[in-house]
Amino acid sequence: MIGIIAAMQIEADSLIAEMTETSSETISGTTYIKGNLREKKIVVAVCGIGKCFAAMCAQTMILRYQPTLIINTGVAGALSDRLDIYDIAIATSAVQHDFDTTDIDNDPIGNIPGIRLVNLPCSQNVAQTLIQLAKKLDINVLPGVIATGDVFVSCKERKAFIRDTFTAIACEMEGGAIAQVCYVNDVECAIIRSISDNADGEVEEYDKFKYKAAENSCKLLLEFLAKA
Ligand code: SAH
Repeated sequence: MIGIIAAMQIEADSLIAEMTETSSETISGTTYIKGNLREKKIVVAVCGIGKCFAAMCAQTMILRYQPTLIINTGVAGALSDRLDIYDIAIATSAVQHDFDTTDIDNDPIGNIPGIRLVNLPCSQNVAQTLIQLAKKLDINVLPGVIATGDVFVSCKERKAFIRDTFTAIACEMEGGAIAQVCYVNDVECAIIRSISDNADGEVEEYDKFKYKAAENSCKLLLEFLAKA
C-alpha cells in the first residue's frame, strides 16, 4: 500500500479521477480514499494546509492503512534560482524552517528535540527513481532540501534566510511534518513539489500557476506508480 497526501483538493483531483475500486472513510475531518491506481494499491487524502493537519493525516494513514511509503504531492515556492514555475523539486530531505529552540538549548536552528534531527530523511531510492522518470518526461527536475513551515513565504528576506540557512531549494507547508511522522514510524517518505511561485512577494503568481503546477506533480506521481 502506498499512501499519498496532498494539502489541497487541486493537488489530488487528477489522481482521484483515475482511481478504481474506491472506498472511502472520514476520520477527524479528513477523507481517506482507498483504491487502485496504475495497478498499485493506494490510499489518498487531502489533509489541509500546514504542519499540524499534515502530521495528523500521516499518522492516521499509517495506523489505519499501514502504507510502506507515503508520497506528498503538491505545489511549492522556489528558493533556488534553478527552479522555474512548473519545474519539479524532489526532496532529498526535509527541514522545518520555523522550528527554533536555539535560545534555550543551543541547538542548531531547525533541530527537532526528541529525535535530534534538522534534516528529516526521505527515501533516496524513491527520490532517484522520481528524478529519472522526470528526466524521461522532459520535466526540469531538481533534487534537494525542501523547507516546510507554517508560513506562506512571500518576501525576499525570508526566502533568502530559509535558502541560506538550510541550503533549501523549495518551500512549502506540509512535507517536513509528513517526513517527521514517517521517520518516527519507520515508513518511507517522498516529497514531490511543482513550483507555483517564487516565494518573493509576487503572490498573484501563486493563484495563476498553482493549478497546472499541482497537475504536473500528479503527472510525475502517476508515472512513478506505473513504473515503480
Ligand atoms: N488559500 C490558499 C492557501 C494556500 S497556502 C489556497 O487555498 O490556495 C499555500 C499552499 O501551497 C501550501 O499548502 C504550501 O504547501 C504550498 N505553497 C506554495 N507556495 C508556497 C510558498 N511560497 N510558501 C509556502 N507554501 C507554499
